[in-house]
Amino acid sequence: MNKAEKEPAYFARNDCRLCGSHSLTRIISFGETPLANSYRLLSDKNPEVFAPLIVNFCNDCKLVQLRDVVPPDILFKHYLYVSGTSLAFVEHFANYAKNVTGRFSLSSKSLVIDIGSNDGVLLSQFKKLGVRILGIDPAKNIAEDATKRGIQTIADFLTAETAQKIASEHGKARVITANNVFAHTDDVAGFVESMKILLAENGVFIFEVQYLKDLIEKNLFDIIYHEHLCYYHLSPLVSFFKLLGLSVFDVERVGTHGGSIRVFVGWNNGGHEQHPRVDKLLIEEEILNTLAPYKTFAKRIAENRVKVLALLNGIKKSGKRIAGYGAPAKATTFCYALGIGRSTLDYIVDDAPMKQGRVMPGTHIPIKSPSFLYEDKPDYCLILAWNFADSIMQNHARFKKQGGKFIVPMPEPRIL
Ligand SMILES: [Zn+2]
Repeated sequence: MNKAEKEPAYFARNDCRLCGSHSLTRIISFGETPLANSYRLLSDKNPEVFAPLIVNFCNDCKLVQLRDVVPPDILFKHYLYVSGTSLAFVEHFANYAKNVTGRFSLSSKSLVIDIGSNDGVLLSQFKKLGVRILGIDPAKNIAEDATKRGIQTIADFLTAETAQKIASEHGKARVITANNVFAHTDDVAGFVESMKILLAENGVFIFEVQYLKDLIEKNLFDIIYHEHLCYYHLSPLVSFFKLLGLSVFDVERVGTHGGSIRVFVGWNNGGHEQHPRVDKLLIEEEILNTLAPYKTFAKRIAENRVKVLALLNGIKKSGKRIAGYGAPAKATTFCYALGIGRSTLDYIVDDAPMKQGRVMPGTHIPIKSPSFLYEDKPDYCLILAWNFADSIMQNHARFKKQGGKFIVPMPEPRIL
């Protein structure tokens, strides 16, 4: 018996991650799904990890969250890290650093700490502005590489112990940033307690997370996978920070990941006046504190599934062949939510060379280079990365010229 069979690969939480309440309502279940980033080689012998993908709503603080937790050492064991940051992303972080530096009057004496700093994409922008910087990232190779490039990065998870060590060596931070970490963390309170050790009296903690209102309104159900444990709106965060002696004093909506919020948090007596944007957003998102929008959301996914499958099965019955376009992590949730497997798609093409030659998690649909579409000439190409459908069709106008047709599955399935 190997290790994966002896130890369960996940555990279920029956309490809320933010408020500890046991009053949770299940809003959707995608069944057991594989880990969305575990692109395998067919020769891989290790057993594939599956875990329930169930979304709960906390009836007390209203946080939307996954029930089951896949521990990070299992979640990231076979993680295929695809490097290369897009130009739009660099620009996003350049503006971010500029705004924060100006607004909080950061100087060469101010320290900015980025938690989950990755290759230093945000910190390098602060560095350009002459601010002191420090990164924390658990990926040892990425941390070492960033340090070599002048972005000092501590290869560790943020714990109370590492925080104390950093505070004694570097002092406290005027600004602490964390992007896309907050949604990935199971012990959110533990994370914030450690962060507090590093936060100066007048310090600001700023984090970005995908915004639940965008997820629901734009039907972005496929961003739900095991790495994303929480789907935040502002209301649960306000009460959560209050309990920890902190307060949310500003919030901005930003365009990253289909719609995110950037939340500004300070000490209760940190001298930050609350911006009117906080109350305004709390009012705008009030409906998310009720179960109604989630019922509609689940119903819409179920209806979409019926329509998309009817379309694809009709094509298959007529003897035509379908390939897929785009194998991002969310394509796994997409395939499982809609019931699409190898009997429907011959293969999926993706631009990332690291994914080509591997297979999709769970369904084992082969992943090939987009150029294969022109060699193989399938009749249809289903766009799995559906929110990029326009640019994909534009870049592959040739596919249509050679007689192929695109299928865009969302928001309503259509053939183009
Ligand atoms: Zn709660």
